[in-house]
Amino acid sequence: MNYSSTCSCGKVAIKISLPKNIEEYEPRACDCDFCMARSLSYLSDSNGQLKVYHSSELEPFKQGSEQASFWQCSSCHDLVVVTCEIDNHTKGAINARMFEKQYNLKPAVSVSPKTLAPEEKLNRWNTVWLKVEFCD
Ligand SMILES: [Zn+2]
Repeated sequence: MNYSSTCSCGKVAIKISLPKNIEEYEPRACDCDFCMARSLSYLSDSNGQLKVYHSSELEPFKQGSEQASFWQCSSCHDLVVVTCEIDNHTKGAINARMFEKQYNLKPAVSVSPKTLAPEEKLNRWNTVWLKVEFCD
């Protein structure tokens, strides 16, 4: 199933392809201070693919253990995607909020990556995140 969305101001667009209907996924709400403060939850499927368009509009930042990069729109500051380089692939998860207006997403389940050691985090992300491609 293919889905598309944009950040609030429309400068950054994404296309995501998922093996299942997007309404069947449970977004994962990370319980770290950063994500809790922004009520962020993430959606991905290890067999999915994500393309991010106009990615030059994005600015990256790091927080917490600094393993992952958070990409936000430089105009509206929406967080679009979180990524990490794993085994020479860019893996990531989208901010579920980008689809909550168009679709009836399931309530988020709480996850706690902050309790994992750095290597455990990478292993976990490698099994749940999807492939990400940044395009201009
Ligand atoms: Zn924007």
